[in-house]
Amino acid sequence: MDETELRQQVIDACLGMNRLGINQGTSGNVSAAVADGILISPSATPYESLRPADIVHVRADGSWDPAQLPSVEWHFHLGISQARPDIKAIVHTHSMYASICSIRREAIPAVHYMIAAAGGPDIRCSDYHTYGTPELAETAIKALEGRMACLLANHGVIAAGTSVAKALWLAKEVEVLAQQYVFSQLLGGAGPVLLDDAEIERVREKMKGYGIKD
Ligand code: 13P
Ligand code: ZN
Repeated sequence: MDETELRQQVIDACLGMNRLGINQGTSGNVSAAVADGILISPSATPYESLRPADIVHVRADGSWDPAQLPSVEWHFHLGISQARPDIKAIVHTHSMYASICSIRREAIPAVHYMIAAAGGPDIRCSDYHTYGTPELAETAIKALEGRMACLLANHGVIAAGTSVAKALWLAKEVEVLAQQYVFSQLLGGAGPVLLDDAEIERVREKMKGYGIKD
């Protein structure tokens, strides 16, 4: 794929986050891996105005064209892409229900079989670190171990994918799971019945190749 097309995919995912109702304003960000670093959405820029040239190339050494300003979260976008060569794109949002779980510092458990799409029986919550810090990148990489999504304490969610479209798809799935979890608890009583690890593993196998196409 040519780089302009990949840059356009980043823009489309930014617009997609808001269209899907999983982000407010410009609070999320999107990146795609390239040979030398990542292509990432610029900081605090209305998505409607974005053109491919506005997407910032943050190089593997953490440098970029000084005329541009990458998302403040470039540390975790770059760090994850370097730690996880299987991840080709990252979508970060402050979607409502996932953020609520992150405020409680709770992992989302296996309330629905679709959690297998995130790689395992739970979606972990990272420790808290200030936004935009290398420490946040470190804790996010840890929370993502063996997973394609995690929560960031008192902040939001990271969803990854083998393509930008898949990362966006997973970000929406995580929000739906979080909503199911929150509401199933709100109903009181004995609370949600969780699926066991063996069932999630079965679903994970069955799901290989499931989901939107690259
Ligand atoms: P940017 O606008 O710099 O991408 O920051 C938004 C954000 O989500 C910070 O965590
Ligand atoms: Zn954020």
